Amino acid sequence: MTARIGFIGLGNMGKPMASNLHRKGFSLIVFDVNPAPVADLTGLGAAAASGAAAVASVSDIVITMLPDSASVEQVVLGPEGVLSTLKPGSLVMDMSTVDPLLTDRLATEVLEKASVFVDAPVGRLASHAARGESLFMIGATDEGFARVKPLLEAMGTTIHHCGAPGAGIRTKLVNNYLAIVSCGFNAEALALSQRFGLSLARTLEVVHGTTATNGQLKIAWASKVLTGDTDPGFTIDLAHKDLTLIVAAADATGVPVPIADAARASFDAARAAGFGGRDFSAMVDVLCDRLHITRPRLGST
Ligand code: NAD
Repeated sequence: MTARIGFIGLGNMGKPMASNLHRKGFSLIVFDVNPAPVADLTGLGAAAASGAAAVASVSDIVITMLPDSASVEQVVLGPEGVLSTLKPGSLVMDMSTVDPLLTDRLATEVLEKASVFVDAPVGRLASHAARGESLFMIGATDEGFARVKPLLEAMGTTIHHCGAPGAGIRTKLVNNYLAIVSCGFNAEALALSQRFGLSLARTLEVVHGTTATNGQLKIAWASKVLTGDTDPGFTIDLAHKDLTLIVAAADATGVPVPIADAARASFDAARAAGFGGRDFSAMVDVLCDRLHITRPRLGST
């Protein structure tokens, strides 16, 4: 019998990832508190369940792709959660970006249900997820890794087995520290370039050709904010959440991260200015608006 895959959390990332699993022939049962993406998935032919417990009761592998630690804790460990009905011998794979201490708790509690836990946070953008080109950072035993590998291959192109359960999410925090802080300083640099009255296209050409280049500016921003598209993508709210996780995890291990602290303050200001639901590349618009500088747009200069 083929494995039944439960998928909980069908947002900007979860919906395209689940769609790819369905398209590649996996038997899928889905749940989200928002009925709209559930309807999209059932429209493709996937089954839907009434809640997390209902998903887990009929699944061999349960995937969660939820916004934050609180939602993952509720969906997996809560009274009506995944673990309340999980069948022994099942596997739970959390792909959300959460507090690593929660990941450690999930791993222990899933093991107590005679099942296997895998943390598999996702790298790259929502547009990559849509094309099945995501990168995954896996924390798993060898057995757990072997069981999830075919699913990951259906959703992405690059899979890194980072170590035991908990190693995937810790790798993800290191990765997002670099990615999100880059987004913060790119915003300042481009606001400065606009204030100087420089040609945006020429400035980008220069920085993409030196050691100043970075993937946020070169790949993500080129197709998002610099074209005027600030639909998420990855929201400023989620980037702020990740910086909060990074600062807390660094604090807990005695590593000072003053640059993350500063970036978190500018993401705080962006949320206060009403940009929390926009793509995180819109950080440059927040700054330019505040300083009455023209927003940088390719093709307009
Ligand atoms: P999102 O907010 O677009 O989607 C989250 C989904 O979870 C929503 O559909 C929401 O309705 C659902 N949800 C929330 N609480 C729920 C609950 N209790 N039960 C069932 N469903 C619930 O977020 P996203 O951008 O898809 O991100 C998901 C995770 O992946 C986050 O942890 C994020 O940090 C991480 N991530 C996002 C990106 C990105 O580019 N968007 C990239 C890599 C990793």
